[in-house]
Amino acid sequence: MAGKRFGVIVVGAGQSGLATGHQLARWGVDFVILDGAERVGESWRRRWDSLRLFTPARYDGLPGMAFPASPTYFPTKDEMAAYLEEYARHFALPVRLGAEVTRLCAAPDGRNVNLGCGSTAPEAVAAAVVAAGAHLGAAFDGDADRCILADERGEVRDGDAILYLWATRLLAERRLVPPAIVATSMSNLGLELALARQGISVVRCGVGDRLVVETMRREGIGLGGEQSGHVVRLELAATGDGLLTAVQMAALVHQAGRPLSELLAGFKVWIHRMKVK
Ligand SMILES: Cc1cc2nc3c(=O)[nH]c(=O)nc-3n(C[C@H](O)[C@H](O)[C@H](O)COP(=O)(O)OP(=O)(O)OC[C@H]3O[C@@H](n4cnc5c(N)ncnc54)[C@H](O)[C@@H]3O)c2cc1C
Repeated sequence: MAGKRFGVIVVGAGQSGLATGHQLARWGVDFVILDGAERVGESWRRRWDSLRLFTPARYDGLPGMAFPASPTYFPTKDEMAAYLEEYARHFALPVRLGAEVTRLCAAPDGRNVNLGCGSTAPEAVAAAVVAAGAHLGAAFDGDADRCILADERGEVRDGDAILYLWATRLLAERRLVPPAIVATSMSNLGLELALARQGISVVRCGVGDRLVVETMRREGIGLGGEQSGHVVRLELAATGDGLLTAVQMAALVHQAGRPLSELLAGFKVWIHRMKVK
């Protein structure tokens, strides 16, 4: 779904969302229904075991499909959940599940941009990832061109980790041509070593996303970025875009079906010693 645009996005695949979807499909509207749950009908399934609807089956159906029971029957909550799931399947409604987003530090007052949060203080997001049992977290800077991730264990993963993840994925899909990325002098040696093991070389340049892009264009390399979280994939955008990076990484983790920490197991950060004059 990454990069696709829809005429309408419906949030929630409960009775309202499914009935709306049924109508949108009849009108020929290009739409998608997003739901945070893992299955359609989950809000019913999660209710207490003995629950039956107080409305009989004749009133429980959605447009186009009657509830499959005698009109005077009072369905159980699991029968209702099964009916909703079948409704979505029967009409082939485009429901995307497991897509819940929790927003943090998103109440600007005109003075508090990234105060104690964002890509320079990603620990707030990392803690929330663990508390929410989320798959990953993303922290952005003020103009959201930088993205820093937190894995499902609450470990902060910087732009080097994103470059590793993205480069190895593109290589596996035979889309990293040539097998090289651009990184600045600030990127960890561990990135270079981990990518070298996969046959991917790292072309270093000076600090700054402008220099990264210049080097990418000069060398004909499609992926580059900085440890600070600017990551550029020229096929998608000409500059770093933190939101785009976060969506791409979420899609990558989802498609891999494995935790982010596991996908990054091959990348070890090396401790650098620097002499400061
Ligand atoms: C105990 C109980 C008994 C009831 N019995 C009856 C009855 O007998 N007959 C009757 O007609 N009505 C009954 N109702 C009312 C009925 O459940 C609701 O009217 C109906 O479910 C509302 O449908 P909905 O689609 O608006 O919301 P829901 O069915 O709650 O669906 C909302 C969906 O949105 C998803 N969602 C929510 N937030 C997000 C988010 N941030 N991101 C992504 N997805 C999200 C949820 O996972 C859920 O699937 C009962 C309600 C309760 C609580």
